[in-house]
Amino acid sequence: MLTLEGHTPMMQQYLRIKADHPHSLVFYRMGDFYELFYDDARRAHRLLDITLTSRGQSQGEPVVMAGVPVNALEGYLAKLIRMGESVAIAEQVGDAQAKGPMARKVTRVVTPGTVTDQALMDDDRNTVLLSATVLRGQLGLAWLTLSSGQLTLAQATPDEAASWLARIQPAEVLTPADLQDPALTLALEGLGLQRTQRPTWHFDSALGARKLCAQLDVASLVGYGAEAMPASQAAAAALLDYAEHTQAQALSHVRALSVARGDDLIDLPPTTLRNLEVVQTLRGEKQPTLLSLLDTCSSGMGSRMLRHWLLHPLRDRQQATHRHDALTTVLAKPVAMLAQLRERLRHVADVERIAARIALRQSRPRELTGLRDTLGGLPALRDMVKALGDSASPDGLWSTLAQDLVLDGTLAQHLQAALADTPSVLLRDGGVMADGFDAELDELRQIAHHSDQYLLAMEARERARTGIANLRVQYNKVHGFFIEVTASGVDRVPADYQRRQTMKNAERYITPELKAFEDKALSAQERSLARERALFEALLDELAKHVGPLLRLAQALATLDTLACLAERATTLSWTRPAFVQHPSVVIEGGRHPVVESRLAESGAAFMANDCRLDAKTRMLVITGPNMGGKSTFMRQVAIIVLLASMGSFVPATACVLGPMDAIHTRIGAADDLANARSTFMVEMSEAAAILHAATEQSLVLMDEIGRGTSTYDGLAIAAAVATHLHERNRAFTLFATHYFELTELATTHPRAINVHVSAAEQGRHVVFLHEIQAGPASRSFGVHVARLAGMPASVVRHARTTLAQLEESERAQSTQVSLFDEPDPSIDENATGTLNADEAAASAQAVAAEIMALDADGLSAREALELVYRWQSALPSKAGAQPPRDAHPRLAQPPE
Ligand code: ATP
Repeated sequence: MLTLEGHTPMMQQYLRIKADHPHSLVFYRMGDFYELFYDDARRAHRLLDITLTSRGQSQGEPVVMAGVPVNALEGYLAKLIRMGESVAIAEQVGDAQAKGPMARKVTRVVTPGTVTDQALMDDDRNTVLLSATVLRGQLGLAWLTLSSGQLTLAQATPDEAASWLARIQPAEVLTPADLQDPALTLALEGLGLQRTQRPTWHFDSALGARKLCAQLDVASLVGYGAEAMPASQAAAAALLDYAEHTQAQALSHVRALSVARGDDLIDLPPTTLRNLEVVQTLRGEKQPTLLSLLDTCSSGMGSRMLRHWLLHPLRDRQQATHRHDALTTVLAKPVAMLAQLRERLRHVADVERIAARIALRQSRPRELTGLRDTLGGLPALRDMVKALGDSASPDGLWSTLAQDLVLDGTLAQHLQAALADTPSVLLRDGGVMADGFDAELDELRQIAHHSDQYLLAMEARERARTGIANLRVQYNKVHGFFIEVTASGVDRVPADYQRRQTMKNAERYITPELKAFEDKALSAQERSLARERALFEALLDELAKHVGPLLRLAQALATLDTLACLAERATTLSWTRPAFVQHPSVVIEGGRHPVVESRLAESGAAFMANDCRLDAKTRMLVITGPNMGGKSTFMRQVAIIVLLASMGSFVPATACVLGPMDAIHTRIGAADDLANARSTFMVEMSEAAAILHAATEQSLVLMDEIGRGTSTYDGLAIAAAVATHLHERNRAFTLFATHYFELTELATTHPRAINVHVSAAEQGRHVVFLHEIQAGPASRSFGVHVARLAGMPASVVRHARTTLAQLEESERAQSTQVSLFDEPDPSIDENATGTLNADEAAASAQAVAAEIMALDADGLSAREALELVYRWQSALPSKAGAQPPRDAHPRLAQPPE
């Protein structure tokens, strides 16, 4: 309980505010500083490296504090938000003359998911606040982009949490305080997402449905297809509550709701996004990635939409085809037209964010002039878009966009008339509204303006009267108007001068005339600022009525910019249009990895283009070849081309024909990613297992060197079993790179698999990687070959070659006994540990029990705990596999065949 007794009145006020915001750092305004106290001060000191001090006493203890200057607030806020902190800002709102501490109120709470301040956000990505809960076995998601007012719901199974979260990339996730679902917890932890716990009762579906209806001003959610989504509604309840709470007001611009369905999208699990380096490199950097290569958008709105398209490739080809059509059309026009359009878009303001800030009443004057100029330029922009379109296809994207680039013309005129050409940055400095817009403001400004002339005249007059040549009439905020006379002139000061202040080398005076003038001028200035504030508010009221159309305009501008960017990339990088077909096909001719290609180009090196032919008859490429030969690059480029085509872009290839796709799965080693070998292998196996469970005939699967993380036989056996499963059961389009030469045999016995290899050649004493994908398996003795070229002593090379020959011979001799690719009898339960007898089973149970007892359970993360459970499960005999002692049930005692 909060005890205030013994605290000073000011600290009592602070502690009350803090009690309302226990999870935020409270910035408590004191004059020109925001102060933090006690634990908040210590935390800010650690995070921001600001000085920790203590001052006075409250409740008999020194008050620990740290402060930041008011004018440096934004910088500190940006840092804290990036670190995932949230901040409550308590402003002084009371009367300075009143008794007791000045009244203070939290006017805004800034959290990672709810920032709307341009200065605190990335230009090229949206800040998303997401709420997640699990209700009756269903994962409910609701997310809001406050800076654009987009609200979305989705319902899925908890197992799908990681895919959804990786795609949405929220800045902050709200979860119930008692969240226990392991899959969701694991996904949040695995993706390192910032989590904010909210009271469990906030996640209530009936409350959510009511809140959504109220927000959207509708009687039911049927029209949105969101009526039978209780888990999502529960998530929405907490989401809307939190968003309103942090903004300290209703969210008037959140007027539309969409429901996202997983089946509409090509599944891109988090591992795929990571391995393909779509928006982040493996090291977590922003470039070079597929997005950084792709994004040459002219505006932040375009960049954000491009990112969205890239993370949401659609299964339905219609939308992607429209985008391809639009690119084809524009690329047939003279290049200069595209360049002019892109240049024009560079001057377009961020209408999306401006519209949202109008709704949240947070607009600054310069944002509105940005909007004014953009609206003024719309007709010209529309003409350009019309000219780019294809008159033969009036329903094409360009024509639709041209129609969408309109807004009620009176709005532009109103802004034009209301705002000064170049207003001050802050409203409180005045000079924001245009002259001639409002008669009252003009009159007040006149008085203020005449004051300048009056003061100059008075200064001249007083100089003449007193004979003091350097006498000056001046003004400052604290003392108002005064006459300043330097020490040398003080003895000539007339009797009607009353001393106001003594400076080091001068005296300051006031006269009755100056005092009378001050009263008049200051009140005029004050009234003029107040009038300006009122006019600005009225302008915002007017603009708020147009938020919906403004957001639609923003959408059109963003689409336009994104298409223009994709068109530019297609020409600059020589990409071609992919074709979609209905039959199974991943056929790529002359494919390139765009990011590797551009990196090579920087050093003048050429990229070797490669083909890939997968169809109903050939579903698996077993890829062999030396390290550094280009296997991973080849596999990734195929996946990237599929992704690019599905989002509506042209692709880095000379030709590309794609059948329907539902997912891109990747299992690519990242040996240096994880600290210890056990986890690395466990991660490898869990990722592979997830793929075997999920991949379908329409999935693309990349498997890179599966089995590498364990001993040779173990690894080979696993790799062979996985390849067989993918070939026989999943029948997915599979690129299977392996260093186990034995796996090349698969192609000889399995009809839908073929061998390819990356080529390398000897040149003098060097190996040259040609990076060319060729038919057939790689040469087996390449390693020894390389060793010789690398200058190994001849005796070592001879030794290695002999050993290799012996190994090959012995393998040939054994190969009649071991069959790598025959699946066991399907009647045997695959989960059973059929080889354990009862004694072995008891021994492993004991070992597991001992391990559990020795464990420090509190020290485990959810992920580590889950890994342990998996390992124990695989170490223990399952029900079907546990075998009783031989003598009790002799019939079951034989190991399965
Ligand atoms: P490892 O088995 O060691 O993982 P790998 O066979 O998967 O190697 P990659 O990582 O794909 O090889 O490629 C190694 C390097 O070779 C790349 O970083 C790139 O510089 C170059 N490279 C790969 N493919 C090509 C290509 N098609 N054309 C030109 N250079 C390429």
